[in-house]
Amino acid sequence: MVTRARYLMGTICELTLPVPDASAADSAFAEISRIEALISTWRSDSELVRINRAPVGEPLEISQESGDLLAHAFDVAEETGGAFNPLVGPLLELWRIREEGSVPSPAALAEALPRTQLSAVRIDEAHTRITRLVDARIEEGAFGKGYALDRALALLRSRGVAAATMNFGGQIATFGSPIDASVSDPRQREAIVVRFTMHDTSLSTSSGSEKHFAIGGREFTHIIDPRTGEAIPPRGSVSVLDVSATDADILSTALFVLGPAEGFEWAERHDVAAMFITGRERLQICMTSTFRRAADDVRILDRTAVLDSGACSAERR
Ligand code: AMP
Ligand code: MG
Repeated sequence: MVTRARYLMGTICELTLPVPDASAADSAFAEISRIEALISTWRSDSELVRINRAPVGEPLEISQESGDLLAHAFDVAEETGGAFNPLVGPLLELWRIREEGSVPSPAALAEALPRTQLSAVRIDEAHTRITRLVDARIEEGAFGKGYALDRALALLRSRGVAAATMNFGGQIATFGSPIDASVSDPRQREAIVVRFTMHDTSLSTSSGSEKHFAIGGREFTHIIDPRTGEAIPPRGSVSVLDVSATDADILSTALFVLGPAEGFEWAERHDVAAMFITGRERLQICMTSTFRRAADDVRILDRTAVLDSGACSAERR
């Protein structure tokens, strides 16, 4: 086993191959750089930034690849009822999520919300033209790394690589042979709560544990509920397993926004392999039936944790 790492899309990207293959590794990292140049809003020259700066009302020609990806992101956004919303950009800016965080005024939120409606951007049928109908901005934060993982692994497969695992800022994607996976305690990331085996799939976890801030005694995460404009307080974590790393990335964010009660029911209804870890004193772990099928050999390491999938949906009542 050899692991190589690069700093890409603002975070660490690790690639593990069963045997050393420098040329395959270079091509996988180059593929991620290519995606970064396409969709990163952390640089000023990506295609996505060009879209976000296009004159309102004027259709802009875009690459087929960006068009297909964005059309997919908007479709899933509709399915989640806007819990995942690629137009959340103006709200992230108001909450200063990329900086130290701040609480916006109700007036500022009211001004921004119409610019985050999914209808604020139109993509044509062929996915090669995009029009901003108002001053809306697309944000890749909840799907960009997942998409980059999909492309990098597809490239490795097409080169005949037999097995590979990537860890991109915490999201895992793997093919070829089963690997050990773990999900940590959302209250203290060093402690592992659940271990299992995964194969030919991707694991994405959304939580408030990596980035959160406190203002006036209130705590907030870097994830926003686009339906209200509010930053969500820390409330455990959601992990999703999906053969598509893009969808795992999107759905973990969407389910975190929906919360354990509504999110668990949504995931069950849509056959999403999801695991919610909630609770302050005692952890409560809820796995959807699809998650229990997708994850092999599940072990709970926290002895006090309660494993009760009925509890998440019961929280509503
Ligand atoms: P993740 O860590 O995958 O859950 O993605 C969180 C990132 O996605 C944030 O840092 C924001 O850039 C962006 N984001 C936050 N809230 C949302 C949302 N409701 N829908 C889409 N993207 C979001
Ligand atoms: Mg995500």
